[in-house]
Order: sequence, then structure tokens, then C-alpha cells
Amino acid sequence: MSRNRESVGAARTGVCDCCNARLNHQAGYSLSTRDVVLSEAYWRTALKPTKSLVNSLSLDDVQLLQVFQELLHTTAGEQSPWSICEDCSELFIFDRDAARTHAVQSTRPAGSGRVDPSGCVLFAAAAWEHVFGRWPANVTPEAVMDACDLCRKKMYSSEFTFIVPQERMGHFRSHGLVDGDPVSPPRPDDGWVICQPCAARLFARAHRAGHGTA
Ligand SMILES: [Zn+2]
Ligand SMILES: [Zn+2]
Repeated sequence: MSRNRESVGAARTGVCDCCNARLNHQAGYSLSTRDVVLSEAYWRTALKPTKSLVNSLSLDDVQLLQVFQELLHTTAGEQSPWSICEDCSELFIFDRDAARTHAVQSTRPAGSGRVDPSGCVLFAAAAWEHVFGRWPANVTPEAVMDACDLCRKKMYSSEFTFIVPQERMGHFRSHGLVDGDPVSPPRPDDGWVICQPCAARLFARAHRAGHGTA
């Protein structure tokens, strides 16, 4: 798996670092490595091609875990900002207006550069579990604290969760922004508790439709 690297200030048209689609900078977003590696949704996307590779090469468990470690370290070690297209922006939670400005002006988003893999291993491991059906054996397991009210995904103790109050969810739903509608009944007092992949998708769509995220 490789990113199509493009240095800041280079050609105005490049490719999305997530899906490799052609991307005009004016229509993209510039994200820091930190924005990327905290996204379980991104890791799922990045791991899907790995699964095909693993199946075709018949890798054993040890080799499989090496693939996991390598992907984790390579991704977390990325120095350059990431160019991301509109479709792939649904994988991430970030300041969309600032990220668009950085893309248009070819400037580096705040906090760009490599990050410590230990700070994002949980998100990669949760995605690995989603794609391969089991937790990677070389990562310390976390307690499961909850499940997402929209997709029922397991939510681990140090995972990001988001509360959507009833009024806000009503607004999202009335505008057709929610996948898997109708959603489950709200929790008493809380509205709905949702996971990072669901929140990223919902917030991206709300922003695109001009509804904000608050
Ligand atoms: Zn893309
Ligand atoms: Zn979810």
C-alpha cells in the first residue's frame, strides 16, 4: 500500500492519498498525519487491500502481524500532509474549513508530521478486528465499554465517542444524512452515542449540506 506522495507547493492537481482518485487541490482537504491515524474508518479503508493480499499470499499469523506493525509505523511516520478528496473526507473528523484553506494555499495544517504509533494503535487494531474478524494478537486488548447506536460497532474504553442530542439527530434525519435510519430509540437524557466512523460520516455530510456540526 503506498501513498502517492506529493510535496507541498507542487502541482495543483494530484491524487487523493486515501483512494488515489484524481484530485484538484481546490476541491480537496489537507490533513495532518494525526487527523488520519486517529480515524478507525481510515484504517478500515487502508486494511481492505491488505486482506486481499493476505488471502492471495496465504500469510501465516506471524507474517500477518508483521504487516500490521509495518502499516502502523509507516502511516504514523508520515511527515507530509495528506491530500484528501471530498468522498474520503467522510472518514475523518477535522476542521473542514481550515483543511480546505491549507489545500488551496498548499500550507501545512497545524500539528503536521509524524506521530507516535502508540497513540493510534487502538484505532488501527479496532479496524483490523473489523476487517479480519479478530483483534491483532500483538496489541494489548482494551475493555469494550459500549456499542454504537447507529452501526452497533463495539466501542473500546479509550475510543472517541460522540453524543448526538435528540433535536440534533432529528435535524440530521430529516435531511436524510443518517445511514441505517430509522435509528434505535434514544438513551434516556443522552440522545444517541455514536462511534468515530459514524460521527465522521455524519459531520461531513452535515457540513457539506450547510447544517454545521454543533
Ligand atoms: Zn479519496
Ligand atoms: Zn457507528
